[in-house]
Amino acid sequence: MGEKILSMISVEQALEKILARFDVLEAEARPILDCLGQVLAEDVYSTIDVPPLDNSAMDGYAIRAVDSQGANSQFPRFLRAIDTVMAGSISQYEVEPGTTIRIMTGAPIPNGADSVVRFEDTDDAQRRQSAGQPPAEIGILQEVTAGDNVRRAGEDITKGAMVLSKETVIRSSEVGILASLGRSTVKVIRRPVVAILATGDELVDINKSLPPGKIYNSNTYSVAALVLQYGGIPRILGVVSDSEESLMAKFHGLEVDLIITTGGVSVGDYDLVKDILAKRGEINFWQVRIKPGKPVAFGTIRGVDAGDTLKSTALLGLPGNPVSVMVTFELFARPAILKMMGKKNLSKPMIEAVMEDSIKNSDGRRVFARAIVEKRDSEYFARLTGPQGSGILTPMSLANGLVIVPEDKAMVEPGDKVQVMVLDWSQEI
Ligand code: AMP
Ligand code: MG
Repeated sequence: MGEKILSMISVEQALEKILARFDVLEAEARPILDCLGQVLAEDVYSTIDVPPLDNSAMDGYAIRAVDSQGANSQFPRFLRAIDTVMAGSISQYEVEPGTTIRIMTGAPIPNGADSVVRFEDTDDAQRRQSAGQPPAEIGILQEVTAGDNVRRAGEDITKGAMVLSKETVIRSSEVGILASLGRSTVKVIRRPVVAILATGDELVDINKSLPPGKIYNSNTYSVAALVLQYGGIPRILGVVSDSEESLMAKFHGLEVDLIITTGGVSVGDYDLVKDILAKRGEINFWQVRIKPGKPVAFGTIRGVDAGDTLKSTALLGLPGNPVSVMVTFELFARPAILKMMGKKNLSKPMIEAVMEDSIKNSDGRRVFARAIVEKRDSEYFARLTGPQGSGILTPMSLANGLVIVPEDKAMVEPGDKVQVMVLDWSQEI
């Protein structure tokens, strides 16, 4: 293992340095549908009972339970039907002994009634078949007890109760709960704004034709997609050539929570991003003991806001190779974004799998290999999705996980147990 490898920092050290630089962002009030995946910044209390009134869980007849005593299909108890109540309206009548009110699911239980007999447990269908309209008398064919088929007021949420607590992540069910309380907005930790800048004289943006010698800028888009996926707001700054001036020009007037650059961090190349960090800010680290993605850089850069004052902004310099970009984003940018959003769990799920291919680890770095994980019987199996070159993006698209080969393991053989960082549960697992 070379001197150089040992001087690089580990994934954990790099992550620690990155996370130390970020705090949870401020709260803002947002429309409930705009805050999926965001973290609640207030305890939410209910000002109402949900449901607001006792209501029927079934289509049927609202009765006094005592009026069904002894009823069965041989000996129905006959009640006089005095009204029909639909969901959303309230009956003006009261259910008195010997009477009933036809009731639809969700309709408020009329005064006097304490239970609902389902249509199926009455002779409603027969009578309607012959009369063609709601019957004036109904036979109850089954006993009920008070409370049967009644949803109690406040059975879901009671007035005054704390329904959702601070730090809850908003998912679809929380959106539904907020709506059921009549809340149209809620306070959440705001989403971080992430500027994305691609460096490289060889790059052409996707809306242009491709001249000889050039390649399309794909990194900006995979990074922007990842930023969106983890809840941030991407701000695409486009492509700059490999010069300090063009890079700094893009930073001028920029007010963001994180700047991500791609390219310009490898040895022998221009070392552009690194130089800028050294001159205009501070390099926190450069080079991590990983494969792919070794040349990743992190630091802060000064003087990039409107007044060109000394405000400093965090800058994560990802490598140029498209796979390295995605892997280092998952390892370093994603946790930073999640921390800013107030999330507590910054890790991707990890599973143990049986490896079906071999992976060589030649130089003591931690390898993150693109793989597909499948569950067969009760075990997970992982196999590589294709060539592992850091410039070859298609195996990343076929992968649902990254197989991790530890620094000190020179070779993974078929049959070895490996740890897999799951990127996407939905794909085939
Ligand atoms: P660099 O780290 O700048 O030397 O970039 C390494 C390699 O990554 C380059 O030779 C390009 O092939 C590729 N690359 C760099 N930036 C991009 C980009 N924005 N989109 C696609 N490929 C890129
Ligand atoms: Mg470059």
